[in-house]
Amino acid sequence: MKLAISIPLVGIAILLSACSKDPAPPAEQSWLTMGTFASVTVRSDDAEHLAYYHETTSHAFDELNQLLSVYLPDSEISQLNGSTGMVAISQETLTMLQETVRYAHGTSGAFDPTVSPLIQLWGFSGGSAPSGFPAAEIIAGALEQTGYQHLKLSPASPLSSMAGFDRPGMSIDLGGIAKGFAVDRAYGRLTETRPANALINLGGNIRCHGKATPERPWRIGVRHPFDTSLTIGALTMQSGMAVATSGNYERFVTIDGERYAHIVDPRTGCPVKGMAGVTALSTSATEADALSTALFVVGIEGAPALLKALPTTHALLVPDRTPMEIWVSPGFQEVFTPHPEYADAVRLLGN
Ligand code: ADP
Ligand code: MG
Repeated sequence: MKLAISIPLVGIAILLSACSKDPAPPAEQSWLTMGTFASVTVRSDDAEHLAYYHETTSHAFDELNQLLSVYLPDSEISQLNGSTGMVAISQETLTMLQETVRYAHGTSGAFDPTVSPLIQLWGFSGGSAPSGFPAAEIIAGALEQTGYQHLKLSPASPLSSMAGFDRPGMSIDLGGIAKGFAVDRAYGRLTETRPANALINLGGNIRCHGKATPERPWRIGVRHPFDTSLTIGALTMQSGMAVATSGNYERFVTIDGERYAHIVDPRTGCPVKGMAGVTALSTSATEADALSTALFVVGIEGAPALLKALPTTHALLVPDRTPMEIWVSPGFQEVFTPHPEYADAVRLLGN
């Protein structure tokens, strides 16, 4: 029997084996943070580490949230967003911004942390959705205030790093990468201090260490994008691997009766249409998070080129159309077992 612990509103389920010959089920602690659901799961024979894992992980998440959250007016990112000149930032924020720019560059701008004016225009930041499709000039105006190339980072010295924009009206939104970064930060601290067989999850951004049982690796279920009570298959996770999902069923707005995902195409300024869900598998949670968002933007057509440029990432993409098609890259196919009911829907992404 397989038991799927359901994580609300994310595209992924942690699959725990509960066969009669298995040891006791893993120990798990979950909590709410960064506007989502977090959990640590520790294998039964490592259960004594659970309290330490929970404490270290929640501490790492809280620390980063204090620096990066756009909902906290005192965070370094909020200070940067409200500024006209260069502002001092910590080494930690600098590292995060440098990685973010690296992924923006590596995805030719499909992932772009400066999309905030567009996110606001389309009502994805908690504001109300526009009553109709915004006029082209309004979209063009918001696009004028985006572009990761206009984020300037100057690591003056290890003790004083600076960040700023060279265009007015710009701001940063790390919603597409910060959760993955936070998972890597917790993962790094835990595996350096007390490595155990465990899985860290922040809103569906998951990284695992070791194995689920002495015989079996950790397994993660990929949710059915059209019915999140179901899974379309399971991923076998090697130690150290991370997975993230972007979906249009989690947060979206409806304009003129059409559903738009909360991910915008930085090239057009419009929300992405046509994709239902993307799951990215990678060697870091930061990369999986950034790439799930970027692949959602480029879709089936753009995915092969993007994945070729980033050989440490593999992906599964489901377009927003029926009958369901499950497109997998060759590296993803190797570790993905589709649910028998959906085996015929699987297609291999070309090179
Ligand atoms: P979730 O936040 O639901 O886990 P994602 O990781 O895909 O899903 O991140 C979506 C968030 O990323 C959006 O809510 C927004 O804050 C931000 N975002 C939207 N479009 C882009 C984009 N093209 N590049 C970078 N970040 C984006
Ligand atoms: Mg993401």
